[in-house]
Amino acid sequence: MQQSRFKAPKCGRVHYNASGLRATVRTKGKPRKDNDLMPIQQRNYWLNTVDMPKGHAVGPLPERVDVAIIGAGFTGLSAARTLAKSGVRVAVLEGETIGWGASSRNGGMVLTGMKLGVNKLISMYGREKTREMYAASLKSIDCVEQIVREENIECDFSRSGHLEVACKQKHFDDYARQAEVIAREFNHQLRVVQKHELRSEIGSDIYFGGTVDEISAGVNPARYVAGLGCAAQRAGACVYEGTRVDSIERDSHNSSAGWQLRTPRGPLWSRDVMVATSGYTGRATPVLQRKIIPIGSYIIVTEVLQEALAHELSPRNRMIYDSKNYLYYYRLTPDRRMLFGGRAAFFPETGNSIRRSAEILRQGMIEVYPQLRGTKVEYVWGGTLDFAFDIMPHAGRIDGMYYALGYAGHGVAMATYLGQKVAEYILTGRDENPYARIPFPGAPLGMYNGNPWFLPLAGAYYKFLDWVS
Ligand SMILES: Cc1cc2nc3c(=O)[nH]c(=O)nc-3n(C[C@H](O)[C@H](O)[C@H](O)COP(=O)(O)OP(=O)(O)OC[C@H]3O[C@@H](n4cnc5c(N)ncnc54)[C@H](O)[C@@H]3O)c2cc1C
Repeated sequence: MQQSRFKAPKCGRVHYNASGLRATVRTKGKPRKDNDLMPIQQRNYWLNTVDMPKGHAVGPLPERVDVAIIGAGFTGLSAARTLAKSGVRVAVLEGETIGWGASSRNGGMVLTGMKLGVNKLISMYGREKTREMYAASLKSIDCVEQIVREENIECDFSRSGHLEVACKQKHFDDYARQAEVIAREFNHQLRVVQKHELRSEIGSDIYFGGTVDEISAGVNPARYVAGLGCAAQRAGACVYEGTRVDSIERDSHNSSAGWQLRTPRGPLWSRDVMVATSGYTGRATPVLQRKIIPIGSYIIVTEVLQEALAHELSPRNRMIYDSKNYLYYYRLTPDRRMLFGGRAAFFPETGNSIRRSAEILRQGMIEVYPQLRGTKVEYVWGGTLDFAFDIMPHAGRIDGMYYALGYAGHGVAMATYLGQKVAEYILTGRDENPYARIPFPGAPLGMYNGNPWFLPLAGAYYKFLDWVS
């Protein structure tokens, strides 16, 4: 549980917003009692533990490269590393800074499986395709571990396993059925934990049982994305920070000229383009923007806990999430804080939604762990998840551009893996990733242009589903 080389925060008590910028939302006047327990910095806790590598923030772009990658998160940097190691000239264009998006803001849960349960997947895609996709999800954990080892990334990667906990008896009954299918069809063992055994896994009595997958892992995501950034640059990729791509156009008269990407730092020509923008996909790639719904997710982190209390809450240091649509996910950080996340407000983050989310999440945390009623919450931040309309990851080629996105909250491992797979596709011309062979649907009746007007309705619908199902 020791966090190696823990780095003291540079920011002191200054308040920051989710993007790491100074914010002005400190509570005024006499604090309410609850506020004593929430001396919150609107800042990503993980960023206090890392020195992010720098890319090229000023100066002209090169005239031409082989591959331009848009987005410097797990997807883009993993692809850049693989391509650059093969001698390809790669430019990663990032509108903000390395790891600025979801990749530094997440819970650090390196999870097997996909967002949808296996029975649902089999009903949608059949046994064979589901088997291939499930196998890819297992390989994605090995892929992260291998990169961490090869590149010596100090990111507290540990195969601590994950625990999914059932909020209702019927959810638990379904766990047993799913575990049986996963063992039979995919030769992978999950352990079903009965309610009376649950205390060996979690210091909470509110659940009806759970399942454990020992293959999943935990990581410090900011350190991991920082390490990936260093590895990609060491391999020869150039990362251009503060370089938002405004538009992408193919030369229609001369296809061998490739693509022109327009940025505020000038144009860049590239033979191939890869889009790795996840929940931050925007107008530069309208064809993908129309297929991805950005959804806000929020995290609070407490003060450091006493060792005995931390052990009581999570005796095996699992990555934990529950069975609701509007789920909570939580874990201990390597320096023994409780990190507790959820989709507290159903829209991309703003100063207000982050503050409200902190209150909602603290209530949720206390419902799960009444032991934390008197514990201070020290950090809150938000980030944006990327959901496709079928809640599946997608990777391949669209309108001539390569892409990988749609991770639906399961992106730490999958983004790394699909970044690598798409890079191999660019290198070899062979697309061996199983997600390329499933349909990539847009909105029903095409009623979506990238502005998620329906999210409040969807949020209410999913809350209703959690109530009735
Ligand atoms: C709060 C939260 C908790 C999560 N927890 C987990 C978890 O525990 N486990 C898990 O597996 N997954 C989790 N996820 C999901 C996971 O973090 C993401 O799936 C993953 O980080 C996606 O990586 P990415 O590289 O594809 O995208 P990102 O890391 O989001 O990077 C996309 C980048 O593209 C850049 N960009 C966008 N448009 C442009 C443009 N036009 N020009 C230049 N740059 C552009 C953005 O600035 C951004 O930096 C969580 C996500 C959030 C938000």
